[in-house]
Amino acid sequence: MAAAGHGFDRVERRGLMFVLSSPSGAGKTTLSRLLIERMPGLKMSVSATTRPMRPGEVEGRDYRFVDKSSFEQMATRDELLEWATVFDNRYGTPRAPVEAALSAGQDVLFDIDWQGTQQLREKARADVVSVFILPPSAADLEKRLHTRAQDSDAVIRGRMSRATHELSHWAEYDYIVINHDVDEAFAEVQSILKAERLKRERRTGLTTFVRELQRQLEK
Ligand code: 5GP
Repeated sequence: MAAAGHGFDRVERRGLMFVLSSPSGAGKTTLSRLLIERMPGLKMSVSATTRPMRPGEVEGRDYRFVDKSSFEQMATRDELLEWATVFDNRYGTPRAPVEAALSAGQDVLFDIDWQGTQQLREKARADVVSVFILPPSAADLEKRLHTRAQDSDAVIRGRMSRATHELSHWAEYDYIVINHDVDEAFAEVQSILKAERLKRERRTGLTTFVRELQRQLEK
């Protein structure tokens, strides 16, 4: 699915889809933000959702907030790469921005759940790199959900019980990072991305590069 663009070392390669999933509160949003800030060539996929905006969220940056009928229309017109129902709300990935980024040789970061990850993998296995973030303990997860102070107690209880279900999908991911410490977890996620960018199969320009190297050596 991904088209070819140029890597930083000028060797052409296919863009990749970098997926981060975790139960809410495991620190995935912070890790995504750090990745976007510190990793050039990586663009965030902004999902569409029917859930209400939380305090501090910005339309178009955190999500595209849409009503149910607009969401249905997007799904019917095949404008979503994947979509799922999470906590009774719909969430989906608009297709066009992802395809544009990949064609420009950029990598795309997805903060989506296991259902969306499965759908992306079915569509483009070779281009998907998936990472599951685990909290170090249940107490830590609950503490983070409370500190975030964006949700009511009832919503937090719902998120905790859903975390158990989310956790059961850990083994479907390529990499697992345990978020004991945000700096360490970030370093790990960054290493995964750096290594995956260097994978031979993705670097479509290598044959040409090596041929040129051989030509120079033979002179
Ligand atoms: P929240 O409401 O806390 O922002 O997100 C709830 C859950 O929905 C998170 O696990 C998040 O990863 C997931 N999610 C957000 N956007 C998408 C999307 O476009 N597709 C899918 N499948 N899940 C999403």
